[in-house]
Amino acid sequence: MKIIDIHSHILPASLRVAYENNELWYGTKIERNKEGRTILTTGKRKNIMSTPEYWVPYQERITLMDDAEVDMQLLSLNPQLLRDSDPIEIAFEACKDINDEIADAVSNRPDRYQGLGTIPIRDPESSILELNRIMKDLRLKGIIIGSHIDHKNLNQEHFFQILKEAEKLGAFILLHPLSTRAHNIMGEYHLINLIGNPMETTTAAANLIFSGYMDRLPNIKICLSHAGGYLPFAIGRFDHAYNTRKDVSDNLMRKPSDYLRNFYYDTITHSDTGLAQVVEMIGEDRILLGTDFPADMGVKKPLKWINDTNFSHNTKAKICSINAEKALKSIP
Ligand SMILES: [Zn+2]
Repeated sequence: MKIIDIHSHILPASLRVAYENNELWYGTKIERNKEGRTILTTGKRKNIMSTPEYWVPYQERITLMDDAEVDMQLLSLNPQLLRDSDPIEIAFEACKDINDEIADAVSNRPDRYQGLGTIPIRDPESSILELNRIMKDLRLKGIIIGSHIDHKNLNQEHFFQILKEAEKLGAFILLHPLSTRAHNIMGEYHLINLIGNPMETTTAAANLIFSGYMDRLPNIKICLSHAGGYLPFAIGRFDHAYNTRKDVSDNLMRKPSDYLRNFYYDTITHSDTGLAQVVEMIGEDRILLGTDFPADMGVKKPLKWINDTNFSHNTKAKICSINAEKALKSIP
């Protein structure tokens, strides 16, 4: 059985080259601190990568995967580098560059890597063009997208057009929290990540449901990061509102909880009980192993963790491998 991690991030090699040449990477300044952690400054936004492992090249990364007992990683760009607020031309160039690089990494080690691309998400025309290149020419498995588009929610008609094309192409979409919009109330204790990230994912999923997009995209393959954030646990409240308020139910053909199984969910809960609840609510066929490698908030020994749970052998095999093999089949 091939253990597949569908949630793992890279910093592009082109970023390391830019650092060595003392240049900006598509507008982002790159520094490294004493511990070897990478510091990215884009405009007013500053992000410090949580471990030095982000800097490890693709070939050496395989040793780290061996340590984690992961056979295959689905590579995706670190979300801090998504170019959703850049001018379209710059975003388009950056996306093409990253997508070519990930495709190269995959073609050098197809036994260990598969990949997701990125798109200049504010512009439907270039996004659809690049999405076709990602799927047909580069033979990647889909794309990573953020939980908002330059601080706006995902219920935008232009974004629906992009999703429609993704559905047609059979693209797998990893929906990932992007710098939380609730940063002004998160304060200390890393709450910007601990609370802000699941909140972002929940907000994104709620927008996809309540806009009616999930009705209009019956075959879309969207995986919600971090086990869907708070979505599985907020769904009763969503259903109650659907039965009570017209502004909530207006666009929907079914009650919100009926859409839960239209999404995929990764396993990143850091809790046996939490994961068991998600599996019970959603069903074992929609849960995919994820680690968030190489983040400090990631899961270091994912296989050991799943093997130590009380799930049946069959459920473990689905979560660790079988479900991902099916979800990553490109053309429906
Ligand atoms: Zn992640």
